[in-house]
Amino acid sequence: MTNAPATTAAPATTVRPGLALRAVTLSYPDGESRLTALDEVELTVAPGEFTAVAGPSGSGKSSLLAVAATLLRPDRGEVLVDGVDAGALGARERTALRRERLGIVFQQSNLLASLTAVEQLLVLESVRGRRPARARRRAEELLESVGLAGTKQHRRPHQLSGGERQRVNIARALFGSPSVLLVDEPTSALDHERGAQVVDLLAEVTRTHRTATVMVTHDRALLGRADRVLEMHDGRLTEAR
Ligand code: ADP
Ligand code: MG
Repeated sequence: MTNAPATTAAPATTVRPGLALRAVTLSYPDGESRLTALDEVELTVAPGEFTAVAGPSGSGKSSLLAVAATLLRPDRGEVLVDGVDAGALGARERTALRRERLGIVFQQSNLLASLTAVEQLLVLESVRGRRPARARRRAEELLESVGLAGTKQHRRPHQLSGGERQRVNIARALFGSPSVLLVDEPTSALDHERGAQVVDLLAEVTRTHRTATVMVTHDRALLGRADRVLEMHDGRLTEAR
């Protein structure tokens, strides 16, 4: 799966690779009224750009990623993935968009306990239906590229460290060759050193895979490697001062 090149002569709609949120507002039910989790959020992330979103707990960071991942539909506004308006798609098309263009690393590692590292990637392949031998080679190469080589590829989650599990999560998110990579608090379970290594890895894969990457974090010590830092406060997204 390759990203549509921006230079292709486009007919009616212009293909804009990467991620764009336009005036996105999201609210949750809150007793009698509603709580505004995202307030007119504007965000554009280009291929190969590593954007970090910092903000305190409860400021709306995970909500931002859920909307960008097309898992939650905003009350108002648009979510464009490679120029495709997710709000205009039906449920099946949206699932296909997610599978083909989005890579997601959730806050909680959701690796399957019974599967080895390489199987965590291959289980996706059984859904997609590519040729098994090619899929296995790609899974092994990806795991190696995130620093998991040799016998570690055949360990189950409980036989890996927290940092290694997060590397498996990142490799798995990259397996479908996504154009957009969304990462929620990737270091919350890691010490500073391991956390910094995971963020370095995210910066590296953003360059090599040309993903439009958004990482959210409340840990300000990790922002140095990002191309751009934005701040989330009470659902409002602004440039960092
Ligand atoms: P963060 O990831 O920055 O901690 P969240 O996006 O998880 O922030 O939450 C933003 C706000 O929305 C918080 O006030 C939170 O309590 C509220 N919230 C999050 N998810 C839900 C939900 N499913 N239902 C109701 N309120 C929610
Ligand atoms: Mg969160």
